[in-house]
Amino acid sequence: MQAKFTGKAIRFALRVIPSFRVFNSRPLPEGKIKDGACFSQDSRGNWFLNIVIEVAKSPVRPLDLGIGIDLGLKGLAVLSDTNRILAPGFHSKAEAALAVAQRAHKRRRIKAVHAYTARRRLDFLHNESLKIARAFDWIAVGNVNAAGLAQTSLAKSVLDAGWSSFLRMLAYKAVRHGARYVEVNERFTTQTCSDCGALPDSRPRGIAGLGIREWICSDCGAAHDRDLNAAKNILRRGRATLVAGIPVL
Ligand SMILES: [Zn+2]
Repeated sequence: MQAKFTGKAIRFALRVIPSFRVFNSRPLPEGKIKDGACFSQDSRGNWFLNIVIEVAKSPVRPLDLGIGIDLGLKGLAVLSDTNRILAPGFHSKAEAALAVAQRAHKRRRIKAVHAYTARRRLDFLHNESLKIARAFDWIAVGNVNAAGLAQTSLAKSVLDAGWSSFLRMLAYKAVRHGARYVEVNERFTTQTCSDCGALPDSRPRGIAGLGIREWICSDCGAAHDRDLNAAKNILRRGRATLVAGIPVL
């Protein structure tokens, strides 16, 4: 469907559809509006206009500054530069509101809470992924199987954290900002010492190792935060993959 903005309204190139007044939920990027606009409705009954905009691609940046990202269940992610992205936890907050609405059998209220939570979460993920795509020339993430995990007992946390959406956003925002996005093999990224590269005896492993948050490498003596160490290993593997073109196991 062809669409054109005329001030605050949008007009379609079909005579059967009138002009619509629209609110911009987020500022639109510069670019040509392409065919393929459509309407959608959320669970609350709000209507949205989805438009496709052709944006100029940024030139690919040199591979100077990279970041490794370890996705977590406690927070959304730990970055190799020691920053952490905390989980938004909108869902847990909304759960209380949801329980109240459900007890009172308020169906519209229930729908409203769901719609609000979903939008807040998407906004959060958009913001966080955009910050990373702007700040770094290349982005390395572990190849977590989010869809697989979603079927396990960790399901709720995984869906809550929105891993899949976050990775998808990172990938396309990286391209848009001239950065590179690479997924690396995640195997042993938790157990390898990011300082000396060894798999020391003291590493967190097996079921018993799951609860270990901090450990010291028995080979070189480096003290590690579990997730930060993993993020640093992911960074190293990403660099090797991008620079040498060889995936590192
Ligand atoms: Zn070590």
